[in-house]
Amino acid sequence: MPKAHQLESGCEISLRQIATEGKKLHPDRSAAEAEFVALRLEFVALQHRLYAEGRHKVLILFQAIDAGGKDGTIRNVLQGVNPQGVRVTSFKSPSEQELVHDFLWRVHRAVPGKGMIGVFNRSHYEDVLVVRVDHLVPEVVWQKRYEQINQFERFLDETGTSILKIFLHISRKEQKKRFKKRLEDPNKQWKFDVHDLAKRKQWDAYEEAFEAMLQRCTTDWAPWYVIPADQKWYRNLAVMRIIVDRMRQLDPQFPPPEAGLSQIKIDESNEL
Ligand code: AMP
Ligand code: MG
Repeated sequence: MPKAHQLESGCEISLRQIATEGKKLHPDRSAAEAEFVALRLEFVALQHRLYAEGRHKVLILFQAIDAGGKDGTIRNVLQGVNPQGVRVTSFKSPSEQELVHDFLWRVHRAVPGKGMIGVFNRSHYEDVLVVRVDHLVPEVVWQKRYEQINQFERFLDETGTSILKIFLHISRKEQKKRFKKRLEDPNKQWKFDVHDLAKRKQWDAYEEAFEAMLQRCTTDWAPWYVIPADQKWYRNLAVMRIIVDRMRQLDPQFPPPEAGLSQIKIDESNEL
């Protein structure tokens, strides 16, 4: 059965045809917020087991246009989890050292190990997004990357990494609103980046690049989810549902106690 917001491999994507407004899909905000809290607590309990079991590797990656809500989603969704079991990696412009390697080198180093949840704020997809839009490498180079990414993700999947790829979909109008807030709100000014305004002018080119990414890199082993993200409360719920659904499937268990544990007595004779 197709899952909510999950793309099917081989489908044609037109982002303009896909909703950005969650409130149209879920009119009851307070019910959504209550469900989010319940799922978040379930996630905390599941992550506790995942870490204890040390078997599964979970990779959750986020992509979006600027001000799309990647940071906010990560902050909300990971609230309360055991920080030792989670590693968040934000992918910025590559360093000199990263640039002398292939584009997946820095990514592979950041994938989660057993028992861990790895969260990517941006990812290897920047190498077919900003890199494509700004012509940072020739087209013959970035064109090959879609298939290279699919093979890389297939390899991760085959070697036991559970992958969730989440695209936060906001409207152009919502982006403008959020940029204005970043300009005006002293608590948000640190996030304002003049370069983002230049990127806003490239909206159509980004839209095309996002569509290509969603279309060409939705595979059976790692499909994309497109989340209507204009309303943060809906976005948080939709993302939480996807994560909890996957965690339930993995069904992590506390490891069994060592044999003979019930025979062991703690010596209390020398108690101070
Ligand atoms: P922020 O997420 O706001 O801190 O911005 C990070 C910046 O790094 C964004 O402008 C990205 O487009 C840029 N970036 C991330 N990965 C790459 C990449 N592989 N090549 C070029 N720029 C990148
Ligand atoms: Mg930014």
